[in-house]
Amino acid sequence: MNLYFQSGEVLMAIHPALTAHYRKLLDLPAPWRITDIALNVAEKRVDITIEWPEGKRVSCPVCGKRCGMKDHREERVWRHLHTMNFATFLHCRTPRSECREHGAKTIAVPWGESNSRWTLLFEIFAVEVLQEVSVLSKAAHILRISWDEAQAIRKRAVKRGLKRRETAGIEHLGIDEKSFGKKVRFITVLSDLDDGRVLEVAPKKSTESAKKVMEVIPKEERETVRHTRYLFLKRPENWSDEQKKQYRDIKREYGATKFAQSRIGRAWTIKEAFRHFWTYVQPVWARKFFDRGCGGTSGRPIAGCNRSSRLPECSRTISTAS
Ligand SMILES: [Zn+2]
Repeated sequence: MNLYFQSGEVLMAIHPALTAHYRKLLDLPAPWRITDIALNVAEKRVDITIEWPEGKRVSCPVCGKRCGMKDHREERVWRHLHTMNFATFLHCRTPRSECREHGAKTIAVPWGESNSRWTLLFEIFAVEVLQEVSVLSKAAHILRISWDEAQAIRKRAVKRGLKRRETAGIEHLGIDEKSFGKKVRFITVLSDLDDGRVLEVAPKKSTESAKKVMEVIPKEERETVRHTRYLFLKRPENWSDEQKKQYRDIKREYGATKFAQSRIGRAWTIKEAFRHFWTYVQPVWARKFFDRGCGGTSGRPIAGCNRSSRLPECSRTISTAS
């Protein structure tokens, strides 16, 4: 039986049955064992010490082979879920394996990552709170952790999410600039347009930011996107045979109508239509251009483009000029 004192007051005396109780609560697998439990009533906290028994073989975290234990790392502390409203901490000097192939490595612990300050269960709970409470300081208050700790947990969650994200099978990528904050600041966002998933975010709006967010896409897929972009920026008469084929493939894949109605298809049609617009020297012809609905590459009106709707500013300028 262990006795704990603080300022002359007995804080707790533990019984061996208590270790079995906490072992169950923590779902601690053998041969890990609890060697100490300290309850501090004044500070409303429980400190649980866990050990790997001396002489027990360990698993190399790289290859999984059983091997001897080299030594222990210095003691680390993990914040765990509360026990009956008492902040709970796990203490352990994690053993290091001695693998013939991989040398000394810190073994994995079942309650969390060996380099983390929180157990997995605490992090899961904290992330749920962070998702529900948008203000970080409020989440930190609920979790009874500091603002910095809440921020660190959020960063770790984002890092894990980014690691998990899949880019294979994405058909439509979007790069957007968004502003936020009282002093308008910009960020560049890369998203999967089909399921509204944000894939990457970079500060500012610049070519560098766009390049940075695109790095999340594997190099081969990035090349395809890059070539498609150049295809639509170039004039059709300057397309190479390869680019002509690419255009045909895109139209075939989408269907001509669907492509024409898509945002990129419409943007390209309007861009092409305006090439003729800039050649007009008489305002009257420019006005007619709008009256005809900007007459696309085929000479037919472009849906939504007329003097009264989509391009009122240009139209008004022309009217004034004439
Ligand atoms: Zn190994």
